[in-house]
Amino acid sequence: MGEVDHDVIVIGAGPAGAAAAARLAACGRRVLVVERSHFPRFSIGESLLPQCMSHLEEAGLLESVLAADYQPKNGAAFTRNGLETAIDFREKFTPGWGTTFQVERADFDHRLIDGARDQGAEIEFGVTVTAFRADDDHPQVDVVDESGNARTLTARFVLDASGYGRVLARLEHLERDARQDPRTALFTHLEACPVDSSHDREKILIGVHPDDAGIWYWLIPFRHQRASVGVVGETERLEAHGATPAARWQALIDAEPRFRQLLEGARPTRPVEELSGYSADVTRLHGPGYVLLGNAGEFLDPVFSSGVTIALRSASLAAPLVDRQLGGDTVDWDAEFEQPLREGIETFRAFVDAWYDGRLQTIIFHADAPSDIKSRISAILAGYAWDRSNPFVSASRRHLDTLAAICKRQAVSDGPADIANTDSLQSMSDSSTEARS
Ligand code: FAD
Repeated sequence: MGEVDHDVIVIGAGPAGAAAAARLAACGRRVLVVERSHFPRFSIGESLLPQCMSHLEEAGLLESVLAADYQPKNGAAFTRNGLETAIDFREKFTPGWGTTFQVERADFDHRLIDGARDQGAEIEFGVTVTAFRADDDHPQVDVVDESGNARTLTARFVLDASGYGRVLARLEHLERDARQDPRTALFTHLEACPVDSSHDREKILIGVHPDDAGIWYWLIPFRHQRASVGVVGETERLEAHGATPAARWQALIDAEPRFRQLLEGARPTRPVEELSGYSADVTRLHGPGYVLLGNAGEFLDPVFSSGVTIALRSASLAAPLVDRQLGGDTVDWDAEFEQPLREGIETFRAFVDAWYDGRLQTIIFHADAPSDIKSRISAILAGYAWDRSNPFVSASRRHLDTLAAICKRQAVSDGPADIANTDSLQSMSDSSTEARS
């Protein structure tokens, strides 16, 4: 065994790795982060959720994010066939932050890892993890740098925050099928976008293809009139729209009137990129001497911008447990980490499934629901997916089924304008209040 010169090795310097490293270093642990790329580096995943903010605060990283002058975000707007609606996170049911930011990830991730270094973590860039040996007390990782120099590092605990690198999922044979259909995303950055002020820059805009509800769009405004714009759909359905990623992206933008209007004349600043097969899952999130954080464990789908929130949540749950275990306590990783983390992921999964099978689109575009129902849905979309006092967390699928069925029935019989004070929605609102009390 090599000499143990680090308490914790963190694989990957994205949001999950940076937040975990910052917290553990602040507790006095000797932390080494190994990152294969060099920062700043591009990453997709630019629209944060308000729930992130408290996790950044716990990691001592919020101040630096607040100082960055990112584009503020207070909600999500939706558009389909000329219909527009919006959800304001500040009207959410769960207490806590109601606003957050839309961030260029190259800058954001750089800031977070600099913050972890300021708190005492050591960071090595250009270093790739190639092998791993699990062990309760002295797990080991093999790394190689860009000159080909290989080393074995021994620690007392390893946190895998390698994101799409999925280092331990591969090396420990933990991969299992993601329970999502395989989809592809096409995206780029633009300047002079959106071209007019008719879109509220403090909201992400989600659009739906007029003829294919399985294809959706994002527009994430950044500061300085820049924006990220992407399209997501099942791979084959996207491929039908052009021969190259850029041609497909443009044809799909041209097909959606609101996006076409907001992008007319905007200038791309990056080539259109295509990303497939990003949804992933693992059989378990921990093993002897290691834990998987963020995307290195499970990634659902980008539609509700939950990725960074789940990554930060996982770091926030794991770091104090690692500290306890290194201090000599026994940690029940299933009960104290995996189950609580997966609970919120299941809430997001219920919402993602309901988006793609149409139930959530029915709710979002038709339900002028009582404000207490709206505020509960707003809380989930703001990232408060772990608040069990919200019936849309404790019984997500049942409540989404009931609400979608009511909205659908009433949209057919009355039209959207009459939904607000109808008996069924009111009684659903009453019963979810009772369920809570
Ligand atoms: P990452 O940010 O991926 O960081 C992992 C790091 O590990 C990387 O820097 C990588 O270089 C490093 N690494 C990998 N392998 C190795 C290795 N072998 N050795 C050393 N280092 C290694 N999330 C949101 O919150 N909002 C959004 O709007 C959003 N939009 C998205 C759109 C799309 C199309 C997709 C696919 C995802 C989106 N996401 C979004 C999800 C978001 O990108 C991820 O959830 C988030 O980046 C996960 O953070 P992380 O820290 O787990 O991993």
